[in-house]
Amino acid sequence: MVGLLGIPFDANSSFLRGAGFAPEKIREAFRSDSSNTYAESGLDIEGAFEDLGDLQFTSDVFFDIVEQGVAHALQKQPKLLCLGGDHSVSFPIVSAVAKKHHGLNILHLDAHADLYHDFEDNPFSHASPFARIMESLPVKRLVQVGIRTLNTHQREQARKFGVEIMEMKDFKADLKLQFDGPVYLSLDLDVMDPAFVPGVSHHEPGGMTTRDVIRIIQSLQGNLIAADIVEYNPLRDVQQVTAMVAAKLFKEIISKMRE
Ligand code: MN
Ligand code: MN
Repeated sequence: MVGLLGIPFDANSSFLRGAGFAPEKIREAFRSDSSNTYAESGLDIEGAFEDLGDLQFTSDVFFDIVEQGVAHALQKQPKLLCLGGDHSVSFPIVSAVAKKHHGLNILHLDAHADLYHDFEDNPFSHASPFARIMESLPVKRLVQVGIRTLNTHQREQARKFGVEIMEMKDFKADLKLQFDGPVYLSLDLDVMDPAFVPGVSHHEPGGMTTRDVIRIIQSLQGNLIAADIVEYNPLRDVQQVTAMVAAKLFKEIISKMRE
């Protein structure tokens, strides 16, 4: 089974709040009568995961709450899908996952590299998780795909940390990604064009189609052991369009984990 953990936290968002409402809305979309619970592989996702509920944020020590919550979830289930939340949740999630899985690879799909050393005086900003991860965690490879907002500072950060970036301008739909060892997938929904996912805080035109992301997940070669889906903002969604995209990708990720 795959564990499912909701992380309703959006206090590290720089522009708009709202991602904290995402986990319940994605679960709702997954159960919507407008679709069914099967992945394209033929696997019924309904019986393929255990819902471990949502983390509770009673204080502002968000890092410890997420890291301990994820470590606890990984004791119950060997594989884990986390529903954010803004992208700041990925640092504590990966921190817990990297303690359990050595030689961890990260595949990061996003319009943004999220490599800022310090964004608006918040080192835990959702614009900085991959700077924190690469500074402090034993990650083997960080591969970013779909990026289309690099500035000079982030290019320098990428060079410093040895990040492998496939920018959106160079993206090919038949891209095949191969990893040696455990893989963590961090999926920021804004990697897709805002035409497909209006319900994200940062609309960055010129992105992937929903099918591009599905194809990346389905063709991924490597042992996918944990993942997050982040930055869904229900307050900006239109007729649950983005919630349905998130639920679709949720099914495809769990199916991939069960291969
Ligand atoms: Mn992001
Ligand atoms: Mn983003």
